[in-house]
Amino acid sequence: MTHVVTESCIQCKYTDCVTVCPVDCFHEGPNFLVIDPCECIDCTLCVAECPVDAIFRDVDMPDGSEGYLELNAQLAQIWPVIIQKKAALPEAERWRHVMPKREFLDMGANDDMDPLLKPQTPMHEQERTPEFTEATAPKGLQHNHRVKAGVWGWLTVLEGALRYCLEDGSGRHWVLRADDSVWIPPDVPHRVEFMGPTRFYLSFWH
Ligand code: SF4
Ligand code: SF4
Repeated sequence: MTHVVTESCIQCKYTDCVTVCPVDCFHEGPNFLVIDPCECIDCTLCVAECPVDAIFRDVDMPDGSEGYLELNAQLAQIWPVIIQKKAALPEAERWRHVMPKREFLDMGANDDMDPLLKPQTPMHEQERTPEFTEATAPKGLQHNHRVKAGVWGWLTVLEGALRYCLEDGSGRHWVLRADDSVWIPPDVPHRVEFMGPTRFYLSFWH
């Protein structure tokens, strides 16, 4: 058995649940959290923490939650572990009363990325930059640079949009908009291009 995060969490992501989990099995996407069913020990501690009652035991899920167990299992393999509470999404209070909202689940810009461009093992956040704008961002981000070997970057756009470009000869690039995030692999040359006013941060994981 396992516990499962269901639809109510989408677009809210209050994150109260992550602080009580004794085995750190929550994983974070752009607008939803999931539980890794291979790690969850069914302690039930997270259930009462969720302000929108999004968490259920897998054998006790309400009607309309079909597919969420599989979704939690799948996304837990892709998204990073989250262990610290953070601010809810800006529109959380409005979205907590909206149902259904499955169509708004954002699986992140990583959806269409090569699996080799995602960590294959759970990561832990080590450092996070301040929020930057296109005006305050270090200039070096717009030129070829690399995250050091063994460390993954996680780029999250909070407002506006920017383009994340690999400079590894593949020509691949992705446009990230508000609430999109992308993994930046270790030791791979890349840069960002600003597409107008934006706000974003970077964090570093290993
Ligand atoms: S507390 Fe509830 S709404 Fe918040 S992240 Fe956890 S499951 Fe989602
Ligand atoms: S039931 Fe316990 S182990 Fe499972 S996700 Fe919730 S807090 Fe973590």
